[in-house]
Amino acid sequence: MTTRTVCHPVDWQDAPLLDTQTLADDLARHFHYTLGRDKVGESQHYLYQALALTIRDRLVARMRQTREENANKRSVAYLSLEFLIGRSLNNAILNLEMEKEVKAALANYCAELERVGEAEHDAGLGNGGLGRLAACFLDSCAAMALPVTGYGIRYEYGMFNQRIENGYQIEQPDHWLHEGHPWELPAPDKTVRVKFFGHVDVHKDPSGRLHRVWVDTHDVFAVPYDVPVPGCGNDVVNTLRLWKSEATDEFDLSEFNAGGYAEAVAKKNLAEQISMVLYPNDSSENGKELRLRQQYFLCSASLQDRINRWITINGEDFTEFADYHVFQLNDTHPSIAVAELMRLLVDEHELSWDTAWEITTKTMAYTNHTLLPEALERWSVALFQRLLPRLMEIIYEINARFLVEVAKKWPGCSDKQRALSLIEEGDYPQVRMAYLAIVGSYSVNGVAALHSQLLREQLFKDFYDLWPEKFNNKTNGVTPRRWLAHCNPKLAALINSKIGDHWVKDFSEISQLRRYYDDQALLKDWAQVKYENKQKLCELVEKQCGVKFDPQMMFDVQVKRIHEYKRQLLNILHVIHLYRRICDGDTEGMVPRCVLIGGKAAPGYDMAKQIIKLICNVAHTINDDPKAQPWLRVAFLPNYNVTAMETICPAADLSEQISTAGKEASGTGNMKFMMNGALTIGTLDGANVEMLEALGGEHFFVFGAQVDEVDAIRANYDAMNIINNDSNLSAVIALLESGHFNLCEPGIFNPIVNVLKSNSDPWLTCYDFASYCKAQEQVAIAYQDKNQWTQMSVLNTAASGPFSSDRTIAQYSQEIWQLQHTMNSQGE
Ligand SMILES: *Cc1c(COP(=O)(O)O)cnc(C)c1O
Repeated sequence: MTTRTVCHPVDWQDAPLLDTQTLADDLARHFHYTLGRDKVGESQHYLYQALALTIRDRLVARMRQTREENANKRSVAYLSLEFLIGRSLNNAILNLEMEKEVKAALANYCAELERVGEAEHDAGLGNGGLGRLAACFLDSCAAMALPVTGYGIRYEYGMFNQRIENGYQIEQPDHWLHEGHPWELPAPDKTVRVKFFGHVDVHKDPSGRLHRVWVDTHDVFAVPYDVPVPGCGNDVVNTLRLWKSEATDEFDLSEFNAGGYAEAVAKKNLAEQISMVLYPNDSSENGKELRLRQQYFLCSASLQDRINRWITINGEDFTEFADYHVFQLNDTHPSIAVAELMRLLVDEHELSWDTAWEITTKTMAYTNHTLLPEALERWSVALFQRLLPRLMEIIYEINARFLVEVAKKWPGCSDKQRALSLIEEGDYPQVRMAYLAIVGSYSVNGVAALHSQLLREQLFKDFYDLWPEKFNNKTNGVTPRRWLAHCNPKLAALINSKIGDHWVKDFSEISQLRRYYDDQALLKDWAQVKYENKQKLCELVEKQCGVKFDPQMMFDVQVKRIHEYKRQLLNILHVIHLYRRICDGDTEGMVPRCVLIGGKAAPGYDMAKQIIKLICNVAHTINDDPKAQPWLRVAFLPNYNVTAMETICPAADLSEQISTAGKEASGTGNMKFMMNGALTIGTLDGANVEMLEALGGEHFFVFGAQVDEVDAIRANYDAMNIINNDSNLSAVIALLESGHFNLCEPGIFNPIVNVLKSNSDPWLTCYDFASYCKAQEQVAIAYQDKNQWTQMSVLNTAASGPFSSDRTIAQYSQEIWQLQHTMNSQGE
């Protein structure tokens, strides 16, 4: 053990040491001095804060070193309106590989790391899959020592907290910064200015050249807060830079002089609104002005930041700028970056249009995340004109030049021009943000093989015909650090005992587990770990829902945002079907199950909220019925978030991934469950297709209409005919209609029943019901052979290697980012 000598102060360039004694000293210093506490035990919260600050010291030093090392490298800015990080403490300790030392240092306070960590609030700066993907990507980039910086917004209020009252969702604000956020470092010296409103003037310079100047703007400051992103075991700490909006000190002088001091100061609040709240809509349009302001605020601030950094080193010479920068756009949300980079280069740095366009189209890369039409962002031209007049001009110019290319490709075809134009014509013309992203980018990728194929063949077919070389696939992944090593320590230890711990950094190694699928000792331990994880989930479910789950029963789990396309409704119809069978005494071949469903509904999405109400009411009826007790228990878990998932995915036996084929772009929840040894019941949708391929069909319960069938099915859809010809389904619907689950609230589920019966049900719920029930029967049969089930569980974990975000990021790095460049002008 090393001890520090008092007369040799730590060199600021050296990272603080990781040994127990130094750690314990720093912990005491932060506890007693930084936080000014004396009594240990009065609150876990202060101990958590002191530990977080102690760990942060170690991260900050490494963050500075990493920045210096990366200063001359080609680098990526990952632009995303969402980063769903969850908790940071345990993740940092795991990645710094200092768990033993931390536990020892905490022993002085008679505190356990697990309890202390529970004082941390989730950083919920995202809605669901897209935001969590961004967080997994940052972890993988750091683990692989890639120079990638995340750029996002420091929302004052993150994803709302969900409570359930009488079965209804109640949204409560998530003021996550209230008790302070020790994982961030403000960097006010890197503040930039972002313009809004105003108008465009034309100026002639002395040489006669015309300049367009955006004037009379209302400006906002963007102040960066840096969050360290530690790599696993490699001393790399990357940066997530989150922007907070602040008012400038400029006041409306006329208002001031008229004595309106208080009024003038109060107006500053408008600027601060921009980073106030995350829009809680997942996969659907956020058509509000404030949302467009957020998007532009993020893009303008982040691009200025990269340009400022470039200018400090290279001056105003942009010749090599494109060799050293990539801007990866996480969905269309930051696609205004295409126009903003043009504006910065042409207006502020005086490059010609053609040079600026070449730089833009060599640095922008766009990831599409959804095929749902309601998620394709469009902004009204009128709003754009008012909020961002100069950007609107630039988009018109980009469009005019682009339409010339379209005309060359399809001569005389005005239909094509209309179809591909960045501006959708009509009474209220709109800007098509996805098209802006495609036109301005050198790479366009989908997030699973099937999804990328559908982009090429359907949604973006014309663009694919025009530029096939831009299109590529990058199947999503999740980080095996958080989603196995950290969240399932018992399984991780068991795996280590067989194949060592290299899998944490090289997840392809996990396939070695396959060799042990017949090892009876391993199978016994594997089942025991699952059992203990289920006990832990039982505690959570009992505490949160008041429902007693039994770890002997099968845990059948569906957690994700509530959305019609994800078909929580199909799941609950099956639950009702099982309940009916139990009531009829028909339990032949049935296996006792605990069904857990969780997820948030967008506050304005009525149907999703009704589905939550239905799940809660069905759960209540079933849990209250003594006949059902031995066979079936149902719970709706409130406030599903990253931390809840860390307890849920290690405990699941069966993972529900049952979206209508062609609707789920990839899914990542499916991968977390697979890694933790759950078996999947699922449709051939998103990354399920690749999971099944990796696994072999016999270990995956597949059902439902396939992508190449759904159009034909929809064309001749006759829901009543399906219902009338399926006695199980008609009985389930009859029970629903009878009011059995809503005795005191007659009629509340009519809208749900109506959709099920409708010939225009886009989700084809009735169509897939019979094959879903059949697959569920196969599940039940398989679960009865405990030994074989455990073998399949091992095989699932063993086959999950390709679904590590390290694999995904290696492909981004090689095929899109081409990260090996170093700036040689810097005299390496
Ligand atoms: C992984 C994850 C998601 C994404 O789940 P899907 O099943 O892919 O929709 C959403 N929310 C949280 C909190 C997650 O951890």
